Order: sequence, then C-alpha cells, then structure tokens
Amino acid sequence: MNKEFGALIVDDLSRLSRNNYQMMTLINKFNFYQIKIISVSDGINTDDENSKLGIQLRGLVNELFLDDLRKKTSRGLEGQKLRGFSAGERVYGYYSAPIGELNPNKRGRTKCDGMVHKINAAEAEIVKRIYLEFSDGKSINKIINSLNMEKVPTRHMLPDGWNSSTVSRILKNEKYAGVWNWRKTKNVKDAMTGKCKSIPRAKHEHIPFLREDLRIVGKTLWDKVQKRWIDIGGTWPIRKRATGALQQRSYVYAYPKHLLSGLMKCVVCSGAFILTSGKGGGYYGCQNARRGTCQNRRMIKRLGVEQSIISRLKEDFLTVDRLGEAFKKLEESEASQAVTLPTLLKDKDSKLVEFRRMLENCLDFIKAGNASKSVAEEIKKLERGIEEVQVEIETLKSRMSSQFKAPTRDWIKNRLERLNQALEGPNAALAIKELVTPIILKPRSNSKQGLGNNKPHSYVARTTIRTTALLNADRAVWRGKNDDRVAGDIPVSFSVS
Ligand SMILES: [Zn+2]
Repeated sequence: MNKEFGALIVDDLSRLSRNNYQMMTLINKFNFYQIKIISVSDGINTDDENSKLGIQLRGLVNELFLDDLRKKTSRGLEGQKLRGFSAGERVYGYYSAPIGELNPNKRGRTKCDGMVHKINAAEAEIVKRIYLEFSDGKSINKIINSLNMEKVPTRHMLPDGWNSSTVSRILKNEKYAGVWNWRKTKNVKDAMTGKCKSIPRAKHEHIPFLREDLRIVGKTLWDKVQKRWIDIGGTWPIRKRATGALQQRSYVYAYPKHLLSGLMKCVVCSGAFILTSGKGGGYYGCQNARRGTCQNRRMIKRLGVEQSIISRLKEDFLTVDRLGEAFKKLEESEASQAVTLPTLLKDKDSKLVEFRRMLENCLDFIKAGNASKSVAEEIKKLERGIEEVQVEIETLKSRMSSQFKAPTRDWIKNRLERLNQALEGPNAALAIKELVTPIILKPRSNSKQGLGNNKPHSYVARTTIRTTALLNADRAVWRGKNDDRVAGDIPVSFSVS
C-alpha cells in the first residue's frame, strides 16, 4: 500500500478522543490502513500485541474523566442558577449584568462573582404587547406585521425582522411568567460525527425555579394566552388515525420540481400536463399531444399558471367564510349520516369474513399440493382486499365514536395563516397537492384558434379543494382509497393564463 506516513504519534491517547467508542474505532481504522499509533506518555504502541489491555484501560479512564468533567461543569452552572445567577443564556426581555466584586482570576483576567438576569424595560414592553395582542384574538401574522412595520428590533437583529417562530416562542416561554426551569434539556453528542443536539429531559429532572422578580406577564394574561394556544392549535378534531395501506404515489408527485408538477391534467385525454419547453420559465402542455395521441397541442406558461392558480385559490376560496361554510356542511352531513353507520359497519364486517373465508380456501388448495400462479395472484388480491376493508372498518368505527364538529372561526383563521405560509415556503408544492384534487385544464371555449395551435393559451382550471386536508386528520379517515369527494369539499373553477 502506498502510505504517506506509517505512524501517528500522540502525547497521550486522550488526544485521539476522550470517547472510548470513537477511540477504538479510530484505532481499528488506522490498523486497517496499517498505520500504528504511538502514545508517548501512556507508553502504548498499537502495533504491539501486549498493548491491547492498556488501550482499553486508557480509553475507559479517559471517558470516565470526561463524564466527571461534564458533571462538574453542569453542577457549577446549576449552582450559579440556584444562587440566582445567570448561566449566560440570552433571553428576549432580559439582559445579563455582572454582580459582585471584580477580581482577577488565575489567568489574570478580571472576573466578577457572577451574572444575573435583569428585566430589559424596552424589550419587556414588547413582550407584554405581544401577549396582550394575542390574547385579544389578533393573529400571529398581524402581530408580526405591526412589529416589523414599526421596525421594532429583534434580539438577534434578524435581517428579516420578526417571524412567526420567534413570536410563537415568546408566547410559549414560561420565563415571562416567572418560571425559570433549569435542566429542561440536555445536550447529547453523536460520538462519530461530533454533532450535538439538544433533547428534552423528563419532567422529573426539571428543577423548577420561581423568579417573581423576573415576571413580565401577569398570571391572568399568561393563562389567557395559553388557553388561546389550545383553542387554535393542534389538530381539529382529534381523531384516531386509521392505519392501512398507503397509496403509492408517482415520483413526480412525491418529489415535485415545480409548484404544480404532476398536478395538472388535460381535459381532452386526461393525460398529464408536463413541462414541454424551458423557455421563459417553461411552458406546460399535454404529454399525449407530444406523443401525438391527443389533439390538444395548446400550451400554458408555467409562471402564469402557478401564479394565477395560487392567487385565485387564496383570494376567492381559501377564506374564513368559505371554509367556515364548508366545515358546517361537513358537520351536517356527518350528523345525518351517523344513523347509517352501524349498517355500513355490519356490511363491511361480513365482507371481511367473506374475504377471510376465501383466503382460507385458497390456502387449503395450496396445502393440498395444487400451487399455481393464478392461485398465488388470487391470494395477493384477497390480502389487499382484506387490508382495505380493515381500513374502512377502522374509519367507520372512529366516525361512530366521535361526531365531527366544525372548528371555530379563530381556529380557521390561524390554520389559514399557516397554510399561506406553507404555500410560500419550500414545501408549497406538497402543501398544494394535499389541498386540491388534480387540476383539469380545459381550453377556453371562446378561442378562435383550434386545438392544434401550439401557442400559449388560456384555460379554465377545474379542481376541488379538499377542506378536510386542513383538519390534520388522516385522509383515509374521510375518504376511501378512491379519494371520493366528501361533503365540505369546495369544487372550484376559474380561468388561468
Ligand atoms: Zn391531452
């Protein structure tokens, strides 16, 4: 082997790594490349057979030392906290101030007894304002907009100003209510990559620590805000997830390249609309027309169709009123269907029994030595059928156990905000695919040009908004595997160009 060096010399093995597992891995790797490691102060040479025990021992000792050091540091920080000092974390609404006498430390730098958190009056005002506005029913987005409009500085001077995660974090941070819990998280390190991450600790490990002097938000206001979080947050309604076979999606559908990739269809042949030209951001056209099996050769500009579909959906259909109506309809339909559910469930149950009996027959047939390809296929079909019926039964059961209630306007408002953010973010393409059924594009009828003209053209887009997608419940709970339309869906059509 061509080696640039044959040995690695270290002062002692802890220089290689203090983590035993990582050290052993490194030694094995070096061994594979035929490079020996010589640890001078430990007197260890990995080439030497007799060093094996020494290496293991050193590794263990080094790791224990590291654990001990970690505990000491953590204990030191804990002590600082319990004495009312800050451990150096920065929290919006507060600043850290030195306290006690300044003394030179061992390295000659001056050091005070510790740092303490104090309320930063200007920032505390902003915190209070955010809490008040949110408890009054203002949306997170409105709060952000006014903060940014007034150019209120953020703690870290974020270049884009306030955003929803900073504001949400402030609205959930119990420090503002005087609760400065210590040991809520701990850092763990991946031994091989050195990557660190912070994970939450179990509740019993928390050290609660009340600091009335650091309270910015009164108890009533804090409770009101936390209640609103529950009112608008999370899933609506909470329903049991029906588990079952997931529908297989095409690659374009699962990993869309553009906002509407794989979502538009030709009205003439039901074929997919695909990007047919890359000019000026690209043009979509019927895939079958390209192959010559569909007459619809018209195209539509990608940027135009993306922009008009999104803006029409947002402005005309995804409004609190429209969705409120839709959910009301769903509620009514669910209530009226409730009486038929037990019968449906009985039907499905007997279907399941029937499928299982047929499956057993097939298996008996095979056991009797009559295996054939068609029997194997039949078994596969029956197994799939059983799985589907099981999902349907679960769905019916969950519909029977809890009746759907339309969400409140406040909830819808908040949900819409999150949706609008999603539609502007990197996952917009997936968000829109969850939200609407495939978009059928029909050439505008009043056109003078025929279908054979491949010039850009305006279309009527037809689709259905799956309002239930906004409920965070599993789609299978609401729809069969055929993605049937349910009450509350909003059929829409509008022109795009
Ligand atoms: Zn076509």
